[in-house]
Amino acid sequence: MNIPDSSLPRVVIVGAGFAGLNLAKKLDKSKQQVVLIDKNNYHTFQPLLYQVATAGLEPDSIAHAIRTLFKNEKNFHFRIANVSHIEVENKEIDSDIGSLHYDRLIIATGSDTNYYGNKEIEFNAMSMKSIPEALDLRSVILQNLEMALLTDDLAERKRLMNFVIVGGGPTGVELAGAFAELKNHILPNDYPDLDIRRMHVHLVQSGDHLLPGFSGKASKAAEDYLLNMDVHLWLNTRVLNYDGKHVDTNNKDFDATTLIWAAGVKGEIISGLPESSIEQNRYLVNTFNQVLGVEDIFAIGDVACMKTEENPRGHPMVAQPAIQQGKNLARNLNHIVSGRPMRPFKYHDKGSMATIGRNKAVADIGNMKLTGWFAWIIWMFVHLVSLVGFRNKMIALVNWVIQYFQYNKSVRLIIRPYHRENVAHKVND
Ligand SMILES: Cc1cc2nc3c(=O)[nH]c(=O)nc-3n(C[C@H](O)[C@H](O)[C@H](O)COP(=O)(O)OP(=O)(O)OC[C@H]3O[C@@H](n4cnc5c(N)ncnc54)[C@H](O)[C@@H]3O)c2cc1C
Repeated sequence: MNIPDSSLPRVVIVGAGFAGLNLAKKLDKSKQQVVLIDKNNYHTFQPLLYQVATAGLEPDSIAHAIRTLFKNEKNFHFRIANVSHIEVENKEIDSDIGSLHYDRLIIATGSDTNYYGNKEIEFNAMSMKSIPEALDLRSVILQNLEMALLTDDLAERKRLMNFVIVGGGPTGVELAGAFAELKNHILPNDYPDLDIRRMHVHLVQSGDHLLPGFSGKASKAAEDYLLNMDVHLWLNTRVLNYDGKHVDTNNKDFDATTLIWAAGVKGEIISGLPESSIEQNRYLVNTFNQVLGVEDIFAIGDVACMKTEENPRGHPMVAQPAIQQGKNLARNLNHIVSGRPMRPFKYHDKGSMATIGRNKAVADIGNMKLTGWFAWIIWMFVHLVSLVGFRNKMIALVNWVIQYFQYNKSVRLIIRPYHRENVAHKVND
């Protein structure tokens, strides 16, 4: 990997997501050598992926080049690599660009889409966990409509114009709302020779309400907003299979060329650690984020399962625990090299929010259960300040202001047409 030898202890961080990035930024690099590794050379702001998928934002406004965040920092090294294995005995990681010794290893690899073992759904469904996947989805929406314009086969046109979203959590709800806005306000102008009223957005949720984990007021408001926007809601409906044309459920079946799977995530585990330290695809960690049963290995963010009284199955797999664990672990690693004791992690729950569309959002913040315009303003403010980089904040803000006044989304481009066979490898990996 061409990392210089150093007399300082080497901290290797795998993953530059919310957790890894916040950790790397706050580590004291005068006392330790820091090596940050990620598959990509950019950080992805996942909460806004759905806006890229629905042509609201350009991908580069939710991505940030990692190297620019650590310009001129001494004892800091970044490498693009896919880490595939951990050799606990030798304290080494293996990757596609070679191996590297660590003194302390931090696993911050986040999570991936969970299809719960159904290979057919995995092969045929679209997911939205990365920028390339969001761009695929953007292409598919537009390609489907272009094909619907051309076909005389009514059944085929119906399939092409049916969009099924599986999962009624924040991702599914936000995506359904954005699809509905496209359908109701934008596509009729783009496709005057296609009857866009025949486009249908279906949101399928296995439970009996949307936004599990939110307040009753928030889930009811989200339901009402989506129904008013002409989204078809299918509660208590479990998708059993999908062959690329037909969605099989316990309740109502659909013909659809596009099914978007937003029904769950699982930790992105790297092989090598004992089975006893892994539960449900997450590393079991103590309150200092140390992985149980191994020395000098820590896990933070989505991939870490820290069981507490308030969260007996681990903290929710959302951004705030990842950010807060990254910062707390930085302080603790700085303490270790200064001979001071570590401080246990305490999660500060700042609340949950989801946006459904223009002037429509829900936000549970402590005892405040907000809906409507005010919640929407708070949602925008929180996402703007959380975006990494001043340029990204400005671009997102300008886009949102223009969209607000013009009721238009700017990036309805098929830059890279989507072909399912090109991504078939993902199931065989
Ligand atoms: C569509 C979507 C919407 C979301 N919306 C919200 C929201 O509104 N609010 C909220 O709080 N949370 C939201 N989340 C969840 C939130 O994004 C995650 O909880 C958060 O990103 C977790 O941070 P992390 O650092 O643990 O992992 P990530 O941010 O996923 O980062 C993991 C990093 O590790 C890298 N990596 C993985 N494996 C390897 C490997 N083997 N080798 C090298 N690099 C590797 C990846 O490239 C990635 O950069 C959303 C997630 C998605 C997908």
